Amino acid sequence: ELANRMAERTMNITRTLARLGMPAASTDEIDQDTAELVLAEFGHTIVRVSDADVEIGMVGEEDIDDHLLPRPPVVTIMGHVDHGKTSLLDALRGTNVVKGEAGGITQHIGAYQITRKSGEKITFLDTPGHEAFSAMRARGADITDIVVLVVAWDDGIMPQTIEAIHHVKDAGVPMIVAINKMDKAGADAQKIRTALLQYDVQVEEMGGEVQDVEVSATAKTGLDELIDKILLQAELLELKANPDRAAEGTVIEARLDKGRGPLASVLINRGTLKTGDIFVIGAEWGKVRALVDDQGKQIKTAGPALPVEILGLSGVPKAGDAFAVVETEARAREVASYRASVETAARTESSMPSLEEQFLALKSGKVETYPLVIKGDTQGTVEAIASAVNRISTDLIKAKVLLAGVGGITEGDVSLAKASGAPIIGFNVRANAKAREIATRDKVEFKYYDVIYDLIDDVKAAMAGQLGPEM
Ligand code: GDP
Repeated sequence: ELANRMAERTMNITRTLARLGMPAASTDEIDQDTAELVLAEFGHTIVRVSDADVEIGMVGEEDIDDHLLPRPPVVTIMGHVDHGKTSLLDALRGTNVVKGEAGGITQHIGAYQITRKSGEKITFLDTPGHEAFSAMRARGADITDIVVLVVAWDDGIMPQTIEAIHHVKDAGVPMIVAINKMDKAGADAQKIRTALLQYDVQVEEMGGEVQDVEVSATAKTGLDELIDKILLQAELLELKANPDRAAEGTVIEARLDKGRGPLASVLINRGTLKTGDIFVIGAEWGKVRALVDDQGKQIKTAGPALPVEILGLSGVPKAGDAFAVVETEARAREVASYRASVETAARTESSMPSLEEQFLALKSGKVETYPLVIKGDTQGTVEAIASAVNRISTDLIKAKVLLAGVGGITEGDVSLAKASGAPIIGFNVRANAKAREIATRDKVEFKYYDVIYDLIDDVKAAMAGQLGPEM
């Protein structure tokens, strides 16, 4: 870890220790004084980072109860495709009593907040779909307080409905069932309530504790009742956060905007974020240049459960990344670069074939792999490219995406690509100067595209080329 932080080879550190008369293996723990000696040997400057940073990033101390104030609930809508998730999100958004300035355009920043006449607020994550939910959870970001499960009465319980139920149970989050499309002739909600029993979901009417509500996203009926039930559930959860502290949050969406640079939508978990604040965001850092809300309005501060888009980042973070305000730019840079080095190390490790993979390859004759690193301008395109590339695989050769990330090509990408002899594919993004320099030295190839089909065709051709004429 010391080697990692110093950006030196582990071997050089252990050699130095031996030379100083303190032999140690690379996994041994060394004390602070010894570490300082090593640093001095290498001529590095010493900066102490507390253990807490290493463990959990930047999360600060716990809040005292007196400082906690109620906060709005954060709601995710899940359900089978075409059951009306998007329509319901739009309809609920329409119930907001706080409208943007006249002519203001609705911004899709990954989430929005509605305010009721009575002043209560609810935040909805507006990326429906289970991938987003599980991807966030996989990164340790459980930001959803309540899930609304949408079931179209005419279609009934479908595979993704069942999947959603599993996700919800697994996450231990309360669920409210919205039986949708009740405007359609012959609507029968009872059918759904009964069918849900099979999946161990008991709504109140069936003697259980799960709330349900009949809605029509297109006819806009039942929306108030749904909002009431969400607020009731929220009350039971006693959701609270301390607004009077440095802000912490979670990235819900991030992208590279051609004009405005890297942008991240963040949901504030606690504290209040202000323009001018210095922050760490995943392995990037920045200074808040502007905060934009879901109505496209520039705001000066953002408190708990409010989604905001932040301008002023050094690069594009990932959905689920932690966000935290820190005191100084030096600290922000330090933590960001440490995290970046940890990420690179983890990626390099995961790009090595596992024992099991090696065994399978041996058993099945030889399956060659074609490694590649993909960088693109939006999360959506990057995911689309990665899944298309993964599908090219044949029995003889299989594509192996080492990394699929958003943003320009960086030195880290080049070192990852070099380790596996992979080319780097840039979709609507280019490499920075440093990355180009290292790539030339290390003979890593860049390939730029702006059309997915061209990209796929080229990858196919390259894979066939690697196999030789027999393919
Ligand atoms: P999603 O895939 O779950 O996001 O579903 P969408 O919101 O895209 O809706 C799928 C289709 O169902 C669209 O054609 C909608 O117009 C339609 N739809 C959604 N909600 C309702 C509803 O309450 N009533 C009726 N009749 N159609 C609906």
